[in-house]
Amino acid sequence: MRSSQDEGVVAKLNLLGLDRQGLIAYFAALGEKPFRAGQVLQWVHQKAVTDYQLMTNISQALRDQLQEDTRIHLPELVFDATSSDGTRKWLLQLDDGNRIETVYIPETDRGTLCVSSQVGCALDCSFCSTGRRGFNRNLTAAEIIAQVWLATRLIDEEKKPGRKVTNIVLMGMGEPLLNFDNVVAAVRIMMDDFAYGLSKRRVTISTAGVVPAIDRLGDILDMRLAVSLHAPDDKLRDSLVPLNRKYPIAELMAACRRFISKQNTRSRITFEYVLLDGVNDSDQHARKLVKLVKGIPTLVNLIPFNPFPDSGYKTSPKQSVERFNRILFDAGITTVVRRTRGEDIDAACGQLIGRIEDRSRRYRRFEQPRIGMQT
Ligand code: SAH
Repeated sequence: MRSSQDEGVVAKLNLLGLDRQGLIAYFAALGEKPFRAGQVLQWVHQKAVTDYQLMTNISQALRDQLQEDTRIHLPELVFDATSSDGTRKWLLQLDDGNRIETVYIPETDRGTLCVSSQVGCALDCSFCSTGRRGFNRNLTAAEIIAQVWLATRLIDEEKKPGRKVTNIVLMGMGEPLLNFDNVVAAVRIMMDDFAYGLSKRRVTISTAGVVPAIDRLGDILDMRLAVSLHAPDDKLRDSLVPLNRKYPIAELMAACRRFISKQNTRSRITFEYVLLDGVNDSDQHARKLVKLVKGIPTLVNLIPFNPFPDSGYKTSPKQSVERFNRILFDAGITTVVRRTRGEDIDAACGQLIGRIEDRSRRYRRFEQPRIGMQT
């Protein structure tokens, strides 16, 4: 086996992706104290300093050592679009040429950043265009947190009052719980007071339902979980979210109950439900959904389907959405009907496609590749 050294490329450790624990371990190996971790987190994430020589509370010898061993490396920004509703989308190019997307969604009382966790997605949900484009690989922790680093700076540069990243959702491209360790490291950086300092209520992982990973997550992190349910029975869910064949609804709901029981504070699970006309939006579906979430502290997020070419689905008409919502509301369930944002720049849910060097060959089943996205 050839080492990377044989090829003359020694990939330096990217410090951007190290959480507090990772930094403490790195510094311990150098005989340095744990407090160095907090210093570096502050320089890199709060002060946006990427040049070690500017880190003035670190000794010259240690700065030189850091420079020798590591780097602070960000993806290249290749496209930046702002929607008429203020939503902003960035296309980032990774070192291997793959491209991922990150979206900022401003609302009156907050600004939510939607972050990608993988290049593409392996889950193949039938109504999601990311899935149709295939899958390449997991993002590194550095590539996940780099999206937050860049977005924070680019929003700050706008100098518009009220535009800030106050919430982060791992709802971009990919299934975060299939990239567990890197996602957890990135989330820890998001929540670290010496980095982005977001509270546990402001960071959400969204999953299609990877049951063992929900259990692992509950054991180690106190944070919000969103579950992409989309159907109240296994037959229908099998066809919309193929992962359901592996982890059927009863197992998924049991995992949600376990997750909630492990959280320190009162929290709820967000169940996401994309309303597809004539598929999952009947009164009967709504009533089954009510039964399913019984006993779980729940917020149901009703998402209008964002159409894309050849999806085969239609958005539920307003009337059906209202009826569905009413049935949940009457049963005492808190609901939010999500407004579609950033449609004019293809930044809405399920529209993030980036550029994926597909390894799953799925892409071929659906369409001839179009190159990249519409830049
Ligand atoms: N894999 C994770 C996170 C990414 S998807 C998950 O499944 O939760 C983020 C959300 O967008 C999910 O709820 C997903 O079901 C939804 N979504 C995907 N395609 C969509 C579309 N075309 N219209 C509306 N929502 C969509």
